[in-house]
Amino acid sequence: MAPLKTLIIGSGPAGYTAAIYAARADLKPVLYTGMEPGGQLTTTTEVDNFPGYPKGIDGPQMMVELQQQAERFGTEVRIGHINKVELSSEIGGMHKAYVEGGEVIEAQTVIISTGASAKYLGLPSEQRLRGGGVSACAVCDGFFYKGQDVAIVGGGDTAAEEATYLAKICSKVTMLVRKGSMRASKAMQHRVNKMENIDVRYFSEIDEVLGEQVVEGIRIRDNQTQETEEISITGLFIAIGHQPNTAIFKGQLDMDDAGYLLTEGKSTKTNLPGVFASGDVQDKEYRQAVTAAGTGCMAALDAERYLQSLD
Ligand code: NDP
Repeated sequence: MAPLKTLIIGSGPAGYTAAIYAARADLKPVLYTGMEPGGQLTTTTEVDNFPGYPKGIDGPQMMVELQQQAERFGTEVRIGHINKVELSSEIGGMHKAYVEGGEVIEAQTVIISTGASAKYLGLPSEQRLRGGGVSACAVCDGFFYKGQDVAIVGGGDTAAEEATYLAKICSKVTMLVRKGSMRASKAMQHRVNKMENIDVRYFSEIDEVLGEQVVEGIRIRDNQTQETEEISITGLFIAIGHQPNTAIFKGQLDMDDAGYLLTEGKSTKTNLPGVFASGDVQDKEYRQAVTAAGTGCMAALDAERYLQSLD
């Protein structure tokens, strides 16, 4: 196969938006979907906060439409997973990507939009009820639990921020922190403590999520006394961190301690020429579909400018 102008890895809002822009700029992009075509939004029900959908849209449906929009301008979408890369450090050098199954692709520019995956507790009952009341995104799904009792797991900034967010919508939020203190900043903790309807339970872990089709409650355990207790809730939010999908770039691209790709200034440029990063793979702070889409657009524009500079 002839070398590509632009290879896009990942099929969330960042990857597809990069594809729309790259295709319209005649870069003839090829996009590899990865193992979870459509990305994190395919595990959400309704997306109510993406501008332009006044009635909301189903997460999976939104991803189908983004794919169609990218294909309309000539993006070639391939279902497949890149499991190794050899990125060039030379200006104008060819980057190589190895597709699971053996194919090797060469590209002048690579846009990395491999996203991040929410961490889960790993309980079978939790996995069974994902999409049935177990969520890893309060901003996406909190609204469905308006006026109801919910719980959130985690003691970091995300958990504190999401607990405060949920407390404004839900009647009661039980926050489960496994240690005797929170890792969240003092300011965030203060906000949590100010909300009267957040009940923080320290030294608390979940043994089981209760309910067959939908979440009906949780059995929690005090990890000091081993005493258990059942709490009735309809929504369970897991906020114990995310894992950026960057394993194949280790040793080649600069990352922070948590593995997020580092980009230069306001751009999407990585430390290697012709390699750009967009979406959650380089953003641990905002993590929204619309911000991911915004950086996908930026990555395509950066790739286009880079290719122009080679001419
Ligand atoms: P963190 O890694 O900071 O925190 C994860 C939390 O989850 C910790 O309290 C940890 O507990 C807990 N945890 C981990 N695994 C388990 C488990 N199996 N069971 C129960 N609890 C568990 O992740 P965050 O997503 O909160 O934050 C990521 C980064 O993003 C941080 O740098 C944060 O500061 C930043 N951020 C900043 C925001 C802002 O400034 N507005 C908003 C959101 C995030 P333990 O402490 O015991 O390890």
